[in-house]
Amino acid sequence: MEQALKTYQKTNERLNALGLCYFLEGWDSTFAPTASILARGKQMATISELYYEFSTSPEYESAIQTLYERRDSLDEVLRHEITEKYKSIAKLKKIPKEEYVEYQALLAQLYPLYVECKNKGDFDTFEPKFDQIFEYLRRYCKYLETDTLKGYDVLLDEFEPGMTKKQYDVFFGQIKEKLVPFIARVLKQKLSYNRAVSKRTYPVEGQKAYVAYLRKVMGFDEDRTTIGESEHPFTNSNGRNDVRITVHYYENVLSSFIFSSIHEMGHGLYEMQVSPELDDTQSGGGASCAMHESQSRFMENMIARSKAFTETHFPALKEIFSEELKDVTVDDFYAYINEAQASFIRTEADELTYPLHVLIRYEIEREIIENGLTARQARELWNQKYFDYLGVRVENDRDGILQDVHWSQGSFGYFPTYALGSAYAAQFYHAMERDIDVERAIRSGCLKEISEWNKEHIHKYGSSKYPEEILRLATGEDFNVNYYIDYLIEKFTKLYRL
Ligand SMILES: [Zn+2]
Repeated sequence: MEQALKTYQKTNERLNALGLCYFLEGWDSTFAPTASILARGKQMATISELYYEFSTSPEYESAIQTLYERRDSLDEVLRHEITEKYKSIAKLKKIPKEEYVEYQALLAQLYPLYVECKNKGDFDTFEPKFDQIFEYLRRYCKYLETDTLKGYDVLLDEFEPGMTKKQYDVFFGQIKEKLVPFIARVLKQKLSYNRAVSKRTYPVEGQKAYVAYLRKVMGFDEDRTTIGESEHPFTNSNGRNDVRITVHYYENVLSSFIFSSIHEMGHGLYEMQVSPELDDTQSGGGASCAMHESQSRFMENMIARSKAFTETHFPALKEIFSEELKDVTVDDFYAYINEAQASFIRTEADELTYPLHVLIRYEIEREIIENGLTARQARELWNQKYFDYLGVRVENDRDGILQDVHWSQGSFGYFPTYALGSAYAAQFYHAMERDIDVERAIRSGCLKEISEWNKEHIHKYGSSKYPEEILRLATGEDFNVNYYIDYLIEKFTKLYRL
């Protein structure tokens, strides 16, 4: 037992050190010369090989096995960690090695082809690759089925432990029943506000000044965080004392940098507020994809797109862009940042229509895995559902089935967590209101009180508990989709004066 613990820890130290390479490479690649890609790619592939060797070494696996057998004598954090590691090792063993290796090799070379096909809107060239991925995933699910996880459940549970079709069907069922007709009503209305706000140019210098302001509002400590720039914004961390986010500045879109930086800071705060007691464990970071997304979307939508936040922090924006915003009022800005629109692109969707984009992907993924849908049929279904739910007709696959990178990377079961994150956020908000006056806290100018609540009830646990446990501890109940639906309907009924 003692020896097993030693091997376990020593290997983790090695894996963590290699993890630092990934972290630094990810950050560095945002400003490295483009010509360096090839050589770096090779070096990173070697690091990945090392990572794979350490994490699948017989000594490491047998240490985990030993610790798993005696898990009752481990402390709570380590027991959770070992159980999870044991499960993922056992899982990998159920997949024939050649098949796994072949599939990984396929995925590894697909990215450049995907980007090319997406840019050209060329579905035909990518179609056979999609079909290969779909076929592999159907076999993968068969290999990993258990008494409780059937078909698509295998993939859903991978990204959000504890969530299966049963729970997601209730979740998306409610979205379909209540939100789809509500959104159709909203989309028939037109908000009246000064649209000049979306037609002007906002110099990057001013945008950066506002990010510096928001950083103080959010409590994103300068001595523990860095804010950089990249094409697609992201958050990355190396422990809770080195948290980095990126922003993309578009001169002609005022809302983009504001809400994407707040979104990433929401992710970052989660990483920063994990309990120091978990420093030397493998249980830092967030509890799951949806839990992480709940924290970014909570800050981005429920806090920063609220009336209270807008009224409190729009004046500072107006001070920076005094010329550009001179005829734009708080109400204009509030309408501009919350306006709902039927659109094709998920990542650009507003808060209200966003879950429909995810609903569509959930329904199609399920058909692909469980009913043998081909890539061509999936594309047809995609276009049909966009028309049925959002009333838009997809003309170019770039705006349709090729828009997201996920499927081209074999990532299935991941999309549902995006919508689930927003729903968790609404449930947390409701629980938070029992303890503090959230609106007053927002109007105080800094989000410290709100952030403290998140730390105490969610962040401090890191990944040492399952999302469902954290949800129960923080809110006193199991997952309940109604908070999310009620929140959206209330907010948009008011905004659209329905
Ligand atoms: Zn996010």
